[in-house]
Amino acid sequence: MTSYLMSSAYIGGQWISDAEHHITVYNPATDEPIGQIPKLPISSIIQAIELSKASFQQWKGTPPHIRSRLLHALCDRMLEKQEELAKIITLENGKPIKEARGEVAYTASFIRWYAEEARRIYGETIPANSPSNRILVQREPIGVCALITPWNFPSAMLGRKVAAALAAGCSIIAKPAENTPFSALALAKLMQETGFPDGLLNIVTGEPDVIGKIFCAHPDIKKISFTGSTQVGRLLMEQSAPTIKKCSLELGGNAPFIVFADADLEEAIQGAMASKFRNCGQTCIASNRFLIDSKILKPFIDGLLQVVPLLTVGNGLEEKTDIGPMISLSAVDKIQALLQDAVSKGAIIHLGDIPDGTSKFVSPIIISNISPKMYIWHTEIFGPIIAISTFDTEEQALALANDSIHGLAAYVYTTCPSRIWEIPEALEYGMIGVNTGRISMAQAPFGGIKQSGIGREGGHHGLDEYLQMKYICQKL
Ligand code: NAP
Repeated sequence: MTSYLMSSAYIGGQWISDAEHHITVYNPATDEPIGQIPKLPISSIIQAIELSKASFQQWKGTPPHIRSRLLHALCDRMLEKQEELAKIITLENGKPIKEARGEVAYTASFIRWYAEEARRIYGETIPANSPSNRILVQREPIGVCALITPWNFPSAMLGRKVAAALAAGCSIIAKPAENTPFSALALAKLMQETGFPDGLLNIVTGEPDVIGKIFCAHPDIKKISFTGSTQVGRLLMEQSAPTIKKCSLELGGNAPFIVFADADLEEAIQGAMASKFRNCGQTCIASNRFLIDSKILKPFIDGLLQVVPLLTVGNGLEEKTDIGPMISLSAVDKIQALLQDAVSKGAIIHLGDIPDGTSKFVSPIIISNISPKMYIWHTEIFGPIIAISTFDTEEQALALANDSIHGLAAYVYTTCPSRIWEIPEALEYGMIGVNTGRISMAQAPFGGIKQSGIGREGGHHGLDEYLQMKYICQKL
């Protein structure tokens, strides 16, 4: 077992375990326990906030080039330990080891990006009306940031927040998902080894609702950055209202994947595979509703039927695995119910069976004839299901695509030059893939609109989430 699998919380540079009050974490592929994390009492959460506050006072004054150097060193160390860290991701989340390696590299790419951005937190001067006045604008770190992250990308979802917060000069208290806490704790260990000051990153574990309430109510926490469901995001925003906290919310999606008749079908099928089956379909930007021009429905389904059955479902630790287990049996129950509802209302199954709810290993399923009267249309599926509908006109395609409260990612396949411009402009989504199913990268501002969230992660835009503006008016 790797020495980076820490069965403890991490507060003020100390590793805290509790033999009596703890949560056991299981491998979703085997149901075997892989470790424990403490169920911390409220007093420990408060202590972690106080230590974060003390650490902020020191870190905000640390020159940007030193912050940058430490982040570069952290990135190097993470890449050195890629294999060990990938194994932790697969053990706790179940995803294929080759995807887990990719996740570590993806996390490291954010650390590298923000190591560079740390030195570019520029201010500005603005010409004033009077020659004796000077208008200066500075961007300053916001303070102690509370980060809450989900289980589907246990390394990347925390890493991209941590990198931006540290680059900006903020300190951190983080709560990872209780199913997958070990990647977060491994990041803390890497930071400890790299020489970051104690107290700068604190990882707390325990009751999510209790921790969430403390984070939102505590006056010394200046910002909440949350990635997870829209439901919990809404709750955190509500709980943060009394202290008027700045909130970044990276929430659920319901991505349309539109294929026009003029598209390169082979590329569209490759894009569908890339956007659908990563992490067993359990990604926020996974294509949820495939909207296919009715003229090419048959060749599109035939093309999928040639490649989807080749995917290997199994334990993620095996190199040959393409699709690991779902995170829990309750997640399987959810897709079972969505499929039963869809089939009862006219959906047609082309590949696979409705899961019976006894196993977390679910083979890919392809269904067509889905429609807005079905729950699957409006629900984030979070499973390996390709759900297809058709359209006859461009207007119809857009109306169907925009029929969602969510607005995270959308995909469009076309070779028509005017559509390449017009369709993305008309789609009510925060990120659009045009002729590609892969849109995530450290340079780009990842994030949603509508009920998919507020704020961006990645790019120079992601740094602003951890900064506040100060306007200084000088009279000479
Ligand atoms: P979730 O149930 O909302 O949980 C996310 C995190 O919130 C976990 O750490 C969870 O803790 C914690 N939490 C749960 N209830 C809480 C409460 N009352 N107060 C404070 N924290 C609370 O979401 P999930 O099922 O883990 O993740 C899947 C969702 O995340 C999907 O909707 C997906 O689309 C979304 N997601 C969005 C993005 C994006 O960038 N937009 C990226 C990845 C995932 P416990 O695990 O300990 O319960």
